[in-house]
Amino acid sequence: SSSSPATTRSSRRRRVLMFPLPFQGHITPMLQLAGVLHAHGGLDVTVFHAPVNAPDPSRHPAAYRFVAVGDGNEFAAEAAALIPTGSYGDFPAALMALDALLRVPFEDALRRALAAEEDEDVAACLVVDSNFRGVQAVGERLGVPTLSLRTGGACCLAAYLAFPELCAKGILPPDQLQLDMPLTELPPLRLRDMVLSTTSSHATMATCLERILDSSRCSSGVILNTFNDLENSDLEKIATDLNVPVYAIGPLHKISIGLESSLLTQDRNCLEWLDKQETESVLYVSFGSLASMDREELLEIAWGLVDSQMSFLWVIRPNLAHGSQRVHLPDGFEEAIRGRGMVISWAPQQDVLSHRAVGGFWTHNGWNSTLESICDGVPMICRPHFADQMINTRYVQEVWKIGFELEGKLERETIERAVRRLMCKEEGKEMRRRAKALKNQARISVEKEGSSKTAIDMLI
Ligand code: UDP
Repeated sequence: SSSSPATTRSSRRRRVLMFPLPFQGHITPMLQLAGVLHAHGGLDVTVFHAPVNAPDPSRHPAAYRFVAVGDGNEFAAEAAALIPTGSYGDFPAALMALDALLRVPFEDALRRALAAEEDEDVAACLVVDSNFRGVQAVGERLGVPTLSLRTGGACCLAAYLAFPELCAKGILPPDQLQLDMPLTELPPLRLRDMVLSTTSSHATMATCLERILDSSRCSSGVILNTFNDLENSDLEKIATDLNVPVYAIGPLHKISIGLESSLLTQDRNCLEWLDKQETESVLYVSFGSLASMDREELLEIAWGLVDSQMSFLWVIRPNLAHGSQRVHLPDGFEEAIRGRGMVISWAPQQDVLSHRAVGGFWTHNGWNSTLESICDGVPMICRPHFADQMINTRYVQEVWKIGFELEGKLERETIERAVRRLMCKEEGKEMRRRAKALKNQARISVEKEGSSKTAIDMLI
């Protein structure tokens, strides 16, 4: 042929390889990113995935390729056993074990994908979840440039970047009597907000975070699902500290619209129910895909919601109650909430939060939930459980002032007060006004020439 290998290469299509962590809160943003790169950048997409919580190819463009990593039932069972099932597991250890388990078969899968590339398209890069340092290193060894996707906020990554220094200063591991001490290095965080898991050892947490930071530093760029106007100073801190390009390209769910990535079936009847409710009158209550609680706490929530006299939509996931499969709501509960309360097992959350009837969100503050709430102007009651949730809560309360933490033991009286504070007091209205201002900034960021739109163009 007359064309040189270089021109042949550049004239071929480019393919982006992706490998999400197999958790709901990580799969969704990765697939949203795939949608953005495919639709806006014209890139082909291959999604490598674990044999557990696998995405459903029929819900995605036919042009995507899906590659299961690891063969056989035994391997799938091994991977499934590492998925945390509640708030009390040692999830930093589980994350590292998943990475170690998947990186071995991933090497084969990646080699095959690259070999097929010879006569097809060019693998432009591999986007890995930032918890997949081992998987990423496989890509590096085989000569594929990598990008690291952080599915948390910039506030969280900035805090994690300070972790080694806090250890060096002897501030971490924490003195249990000093947990409320403010961290002057990281306002508005307190010492307790840096404890990712109460069941994990300090050494495990430190290794897990070190690997996340390595993933960022070894990458050709870090991608964050956030926007400049929300987290400007933390984004700057991160870019300076990491010395790699940082792309704030969120809110992804407002760019990659209509994506179906829910692992559980969403009960859409609740949207019709919301249609019948007054504007901003309903409190949406949901604790994400992993957090769990005791049966006694669930009963207190039930009675607290009843006593608040407010309307609510409450998600009770099948495994929300710690250690038991089914939640039995108290006698008299259904009578008490007739007409003004609805309980479902999984919600179409983004549609719920953008519904005009929803005026507040009681959340565990996973980053996706936090960002989804912000981008629809919904103020929050915060009840964090683990990982970055405490950090997100502090920012909601102290920096953005669009919600407050419900602290201490869960009791019906405190719940009732918190619900009324958010839904009917002047203070709650002010939080809602501020949340709506952020919603507006989020919208602008994804419009033409907005900061996230520009970052996406640069990334592509
Ligand atoms: N979600 C949902 N239906 C529900 C509850 C949650 O679709 O009833 C989605 C939610 O929109 C979000 C994700 O599940 O995108 C949860 O992610 P997050 O980071 O908030 O929390 P995690 O589940 O990782 O703790």
